[in-house]
Order: sequence, then C-alpha cells, then structure tokens
Amino acid sequence: MTYRAPVDDIMHALKASAGLDQMIGQGLLGDLDEATIRAVIEQAGKFGAEVLEPLSAPGDRAGSKLVDGKVVTPPGWKEAYQQFASGGWGALPAPEEWGGQNLPQIVATAAGEIWNSANLSFGLCPLLTQGAIDALEAQGSEALKRTYLPKMVTGEWTGTMNLTEPHAGSDLGHLKSRAVKQPDGTYRIFGTKIFITYGDHEMTDNIIHLVLARLPDAPPGTRGISLFLVPKYLVNEDGSLGKRNDVTCAGLEHKLGIHASPTAVMKYGEGGDGAVGYLVGEENRGLNVMFIMMNAARLAVGTQGVSVAERATQRAVAYAKERKQGRAASTKGTDMAPIIEHPDIRRSLMTMRALTQAARAICLVTAKETDVARRAKDAGERAAAANRVALLTPVAKAFSTDIGCEVASIGVQVHGGMGFIEETGAAQIYRDARILPIYEGTNGIQAIDIVVRKLPLEGGKVVEAYIGELKKTADEVRASNRPEFGRMGERLGEAVVALAEATRWMGGALQKNQEAALSGATPYLRLFGLAAGGIYLARGALAATRNGASGGPAQSIAVARFFAENLATAAPGLKDTIVGGAESALAVEPETLSA
Ligand SMILES: Cc1cc2nc3c(=O)[nH]c(=O)nc-3n(C[C@H](O)[C@H](O)[C@H](O)COP(=O)(O)OP(=O)(O)OC[C@H]3O[C@@H](n4cnc5c(N)ncnc54)[C@H](O)[C@@H]3O)c2cc1C
Repeated sequence: MTYRAPVDDIMHALKASAGLDQMIGQGLLGDLDEATIRAVIEQAGKFGAEVLEPLSAPGDRAGSKLVDGKVVTPPGWKEAYQQFASGGWGALPAPEEWGGQNLPQIVATAAGEIWNSANLSFGLCPLLTQGAIDALEAQGSEALKRTYLPKMVTGEWTGTMNLTEPHAGSDLGHLKSRAVKQPDGTYRIFGTKIFITYGDHEMTDNIIHLVLARLPDAPPGTRGISLFLVPKYLVNEDGSLGKRNDVTCAGLEHKLGIHASPTAVMKYGEGGDGAVGYLVGEENRGLNVMFIMMNAARLAVGTQGVSVAERATQRAVAYAKERKQGRAASTKGTDMAPIIEHPDIRRSLMTMRALTQAARAICLVTAKETDVARRAKDAGERAAAANRVALLTPVAKAFSTDIGCEVASIGVQVHGGMGFIEETGAAQIYRDARILPIYEGTNGIQAIDIVVRKLPLEGGKVVEAYIGELKKTADEVRASNRPEFGRMGERLGEAVVALAEATRWMGGALQKNQEAALSGATPYLRLFGLAAGGIYLARGALAATRNGASGGPAQSIAVARFFAENLATAAPGLKDTIVGGAESALAVEPETLSA
C-alpha cells in the first residue's frame, strides 16, 4: 500500500489546534498565506510519496554497509538525497541570509512528518543537519557561519551530532573525548563517539560533525564540556575542500530497525595529532549550545513518532478493508466480512487514528510556539512562547514517540500473522519505530525534564496558565451541549482536573520527596499528553462545527469524541498512579529486585 500525505489532516491541525489563521493575521508569517502553506505541504507530500517511499523497504533490506572503510548507503539513496537538496527541501526553515527559505517551523514540522512517514531512515539525515544548522547559527562565530552554513543549508554538506560515548549516554557529564587548544586558535580533538547517525556516508562531499569534548583544565561534569565543529574534509580559505581530517568511521551498528540509516562508531584523532576542530560558542559552555540543537531535534523526533503512527494507520486501514475473515453483524449468508467491519478492529483503527492526530496536534502546537518565540514583535510575547516551547518539547518528544510505537504495534496486530511477516511492511514500521523513544534523550529523561525543570518554570506559572487554557476548551465543549459530542466535554474536563491535581502534587513532592516525584514522572508525562492531545482534538471538533463542511476532515468530530471517551479516560487512573503509586514503586530495594 502506497503512502498518501495526509495534507487535509495536517492543515486541519494547523488551523484548528495551532492557530494558523491568527498567526497569519498577526503578520507572524510574512507574506505566507494559507494557500501557499498548503501548496508547500502538498509538494513535500509528492516528493515523499514519489521519491522517498519507494526506497524505504528496499533500503531496509539492503541497509547501509561499511565497505573498505567507506559507508555505502542503499541503492538510490544518494540520488534521492541529491534530488532532496536540489529541490531546496533541506533549507526550509533556515534564514535567507544563508540561502534558506526562512519558512516557519510549522511548515518544516509538517514537511518533516511527511518525509519521515515516507522513509524514516532517510529523514534522519536532514533532521540532524537541521539541528547542526540551528546550533551553528545560534552560537557559531561569523567566520564559521560563513564557511559552513551556506553549504549545509543547501544540503551540499550534511551535519551530525556527536554526544554519546560508550560510558556516557544519558549522563553526558562523564564524557571523555578530549580537546587541546592550538597556538593558532584551533583545537585538536581525540576520542571515540558511538551511535552517530549518518556519521559517515558518500552522499555528499563533506560532513560537518558537531562534537562534544572536554578541555584539559575543564571543571568536572556538565560544566566542563565544550562544543567543536569538526569537518570530515578541512575547508580552504577559498571554500574549496582541503585534506582529509583525522576522523574515521570505525564501524556500523547492526540494529533492530532503521537499517538504511548508518549508525556509526566515530574515531577522532586516531592518527596521533588529533582531528582539527573549531570551537562553537564559549569554552565549557558546549552543552548549552548543544541544547539549542537538541530542543529542535527533540521536536523533530517527536514528529517522527507522528510519522510512523500515520504510516502504520494508513497501512492497517488498507489491509483491514481487504482482508476477509468471520462474519460481521451485518453479514448476510455465509460470506466472510472484511475485518474492518468487526468492532474490535474498528476500535483498534480508531485508537490508531486518534492517537496519531493528537500527537500531530501537540507537535504542531509546539512548532507554532517556536515560531512565536522567534518571530513575535513583542519581547514579552516571545518570552512567553519560549516558555511554552520549553514546557511542551518533552511532551512532543516522548508522548508522540511512545504512541508511535503503540500505534505501530496495533498495526501489526490488525494484520494478524501477516503483520509478523516482512512483506506487508507493518513489521518494518514496528521495528523502525522502536528507536524513537530512545534517541535524542530517552523518554524517561524527557519525563524527568518536564517534572524537574519545566513545572517549576516561573514558579509554576507557565504550567498553570497552560492548564487554565486547556480547562477553558473543556468548558467550552461542555457548554456547547452538542449531541454529536457525546460525553467529550465531561471526559476532557476530568482529564484536565486530573492533570491539575497531579501537577499540584508534583509541586509538593519536588520539595519534600523528590524520589516520589521522579517515580511518577513517566505517568505524569503520559497524563499531560492525553489531556493536551484530547483538548487539541476537541478544538478541531469545535472548529468543524463552527465552519460546517469547510471546518476540517469529516471525521474530526468522531475522532475527538472517541479520544475523549476511550483514551482520555485513562487520565484519572494515571493521576492515582502518580499521587499514590510511588511508595510501592520504590518499596523493593534495587539489590533485591532480581531475587
Ligand atoms: C540508532 C541510534 C541512533 C543514535 N544517534 C545518535 C546520534 O546521532 N548522536 C548521538 O550523540 N547519540 C546518538 N544515539 C545515542 C542515543 O542518544 C542514546 O542511546 C540515548 O541518549 C541513551 O543513552 P544510552 O544508550 O547510554 O542509555 P543509558 O543512558 O544507559 O540509559 C539506559 C536506561 O536508563 C535510563 N536512565 C538513564 N539515566 C537515568 C536517570 N538519571 N534517571 C532515570 N532513568 C535513567 C534511560 O532512560 C534508559 O531507559 C543513537 C542511538 C541509537 C540506538
């Protein structure tokens, strides 16, 4: 079954949940109007469906390989990448100054969803390049920006992110890669990085690595980490490529999924003198710069969760229409019914669709707040939006990638035995999806981030204001009294109350019993995602009733109601887990867990 970009659903989420009309009305998007945004998303969809999707399954089978010290990507990969770059797709949100198109984050996020649905392994390469562009643009010196940004923005060169080392994954404070300052102001980098996505390949002439390393006199922990730009090939003053830098790919990992994406072990300075590197930002402040890159990348990875969920849903719906088994209530005679007629399968498909649309809305709202934080004229508005981005980014990343795995798993189940067999494609989606809750900060770390760092923002006022807005929508749904909404208002009201109570409890626990707060972090993030996602879908339903037929995809009311009555109902239970489950979760001592 071929992939079809869900342009109507994306536009509906942009308008009803992310407030596209207001953004246009406030002049935040420059000359862009709705029709142009739709046209860009349609073109991105065409590229995804026609160029990227046909390479996904063969790319999975072929994988990327290390041959004679060179990384060889699957057949067609290099040509597709060149088409991607020459089409200007790599440069959507980058500033015009560096050759980009300065398109808003909402458009980049929508396009990213589509390309990663079509081909997750391919989509990772531009995703990381964009992260490197963000970091360089924010903190690089003018000279570094002039030399590297234009080629990265056009996609002539790709970028990577080198954080992880064998003993330093979530805990980067322990990384050991070294940097030594040279008299000419450059640095020499030594060390080994693991799991580096697109760490090496032959699709472009050069690869620009952003590498975290420690200076000899650096303070211990995260305050002693610096960020360096290390090109695969050194760049001469005139912009031409010089000699090969001392950075090599020592191996590629054998993985559960995303086989076509090369995941590399990278060695810096193995030759003896060190790889030439250039400082980005200030010495010992590298992690702050990396966070700029990581926040953007976290939203992009959250969006990958939406991508796999959408892909799995499309495939499962198509299969359920074709596959016949058993008799449905409506079946006459002895004919078998398409499995889509069975209530259990219909519930499964609605769950897939509803979770996908909720996660999409959360990601697009986070993208919208990113745009406001960058583009609003008023400094107060920009600061408020930046706080909203900070609050929502862990939810966008973790909720969306968790549901990506769940939806992919339901997709396999809908296919029955054929889901476990590779040729339907459901299995690949399931395998590929599993990395998403792990990289770019595990979902456990995202949950800790929201509880420990984001809830206390502005003394708790950021989350309080947000929950207040959610409540307003729940009240509006309830007050609308529309029969087609069923119990949507009531259920969403309960979900928002559960979120408010859990948030209050977290505030107290953070002061008195941090272990209890941390043990509830993952259910708290889930509860947050369910309440927020349900409300965004409800806003879509309200818009659909306001605008009649032009209000969005026909199913938006049904999907919002289903979400509220079938999925948001977990919210009060999650609240109970958070406020009452810590003691039993922590009752058994670590050393006795195995007994
Ligand atoms: C395919 C793939 C691609 C990747 N791409 C890149 C890349 O391009 N660049 C890069 O730098 N890295 C990359 N990574 C690395 C990835 O970001 C790390 O694997 C991830 O950050 C987790 O680190 P870890 O594997 O060391 O797990 P660990 O940190 O050992 O975590 C193991 C488990 O313990 C939990 N845990 C850890 N610390 C805590 C804590 N304080 N409190 C509660 N729970 C905790 C984690 O949530 C996790 O469940 C990639 C990994 C893979 C598999």
